[in-house]
Amino acid sequence: MIQKHTRRMAPFTRPVAPMSRESAVRIIPLGGVEEIGRNMTVIEYDNDIVVIDAGLEFPIEETPGIDYIIPNTKYLEARKNKIRGLIISHGHLDHTGAIPYLLERIGSPTIYTTRLTKAMILKRQEEFPHSAKLYIEEIKSGDMVKLGQLKARFFDITHTIPDAIGAIIETPLGNVIYPGDFKIELDAKGKPIHLEQYTKLGRENNLVLLMESTNAEAPGFSIPEKTVHQNLEKIISEAKGRVIAATFSSLLERIIEIIKIAERHNRKVVIDGFSMKANVEIAQELGFFKAKHDIIIPADRINNYPPEKIIAICTGAQGEENAALMRIANRKHKHIKIQKDDTVILSSSIIPGNERSIQNLKDNLARQGARIIHYKVADVHASGHAYQEELKMMAKMLKPKFLIPIHGYYFMLKTNADLAETIGIPKENIVIPMNNGSIIEATKNKIHILRESAPANLVLVDGLGVGDVKEVVLRDRQMLAQDGIFVIITAIDSQTGKVKNSPDIISRGFIYLRESQELLRQTRYLIRKTVEEATGKMHPINTTYVKELLRDRIGKFLFQKTQRRPMVLPVLIEV
Ligand SMILES: [Zn+2]
Repeated sequence: MIQKHTRRMAPFTRPVAPMSRESAVRIIPLGGVEEIGRNMTVIEYDNDIVVIDAGLEFPIEETPGIDYIIPNTKYLEARKNKIRGLIISHGHLDHTGAIPYLLERIGSPTIYTTRLTKAMILKRQEEFPHSAKLYIEEIKSGDMVKLGQLKARFFDITHTIPDAIGAIIETPLGNVIYPGDFKIELDAKGKPIHLEQYTKLGRENNLVLLMESTNAEAPGFSIPEKTVHQNLEKIISEAKGRVIAATFSSLLERIIEIIKIAERHNRKVVIDGFSMKANVEIAQELGFFKAKHDIIIPADRINNYPPEKIIAICTGAQGEENAALMRIANRKHKHIKIQKDDTVILSSSIIPGNERSIQNLKDNLARQGARIIHYKVADVHASGHAYQEELKMMAKMLKPKFLIPIHGYYFMLKTNADLAETIGIPKENIVIPMNNGSIIEATKNKIHILRESAPANLVLVDGLGVGDVKEVVLRDRQMLAQDGIFVIITAIDSQTGKVKNSPDIISRGFIYLRESQELLRQTRYLIRKTVEEATGKMHPINTTYVKELLRDRIGKFLFQKTQRRPMVLPVLIEV
């Protein structure tokens, strides 16, 4: 088994020094700089702390069977009384998802966020009836809140969900600016949307810009969302039969647009996907858009209308196992079966790792006669994150003294740092966080990373438990996932210590037993030998010891023979 991963399961943690004597702003990414996800950033000045975002990350290879990974908040837990507020930039789970798990641990600070984001947070909180009440103060672009000696102001951001905001944290040394997830879209005249806001902000004393790095490796400009909308409208208007549009539930702006397109082309809309439906409902309730009466119909009424009058919006464009589109493709959907003339639009890119399941999905849909349109044949998807030219543009407009790339794997951060240099920010004014928990201090003239770091070992959520899935459980799951299980059932005569009959062997996910008769014969021989050598002079029999010995010897033997390490489970029955 090759150890491919270098991410730390339990890194060293040195005690963190108090703030530097010289007046400094401390910036600590607690999550989001070793991964895409679990974004959380701490901004600390003197006696005040402001936290921005509290996101989750979906399980990674080293944590099979875990629900989520959340930021490690030990640093904040030790400084609860300094926390003046938690700002949430937008309603995506990689920015909001950890709230139910960690808010109480950090002393339940007031959350500051926009209307839509607030509604989405509260909606999700309903799934956690035992957690403490949230205090959420609604803010909007242009507002200012006092947070101890610090002030927070907010500005408009273009992303894939309505009501996204960037935050400006005013400190006595200058502003720390956090645009969060953003892209730059141009208006009809080719001018960036929100240009005035950004250039005006650029004239302030901007100390640090925290810049997202998701697409730092992508040259040029991202495809404008407007182009995607136009293409979707064209495809939908030309489709002869039903249209099934699959996308992410997080791309709320696009989902709203597809509903509007459906209205214009007299099609009824079926929305399939729990979170997708919930997000659309919230957006309607808050007045972000209003669908015409009766345009959205339940899935069980889909067959009451002719095919050219229907559009279904669903989840599952990544081939996720239980999502709506997958059920449709596998003919397991209760109401939607693929029929001739159906057009399926996969309005998303491929998240690395999902290639195979998306290929299966497309194969299955195509076999049943659907016409498939994906991002490689037409611009039916655009990223919500800035490409290189947009990142440069934002940095040029905001004119910060220092820049810290965040949100991404190290190489993305490094690429983003290199970009910043190309627009004239001096190398010594750019700091790349080494890890989650890196502590960066900026004074008026200097920025550097401290040698100490905040605790950053993984905090896992499994069911409702937080951080209580011990490493050993994870190791077991990894072992099971990679090399399977090998159960040995042995009956021992409790008087003589001899093995009775031939040991039973059950294996799953390891080797195909029928084709491994010789290996099994040798294994049985070794089991008998191991047990009888151990029990020969033992009375009564110490079964714990014998089991340990079996586990060890058989494990080594199987590895020698197969280069695999199944989990070996010996069961001893004394008769
Ligand atoms: Zn986002």
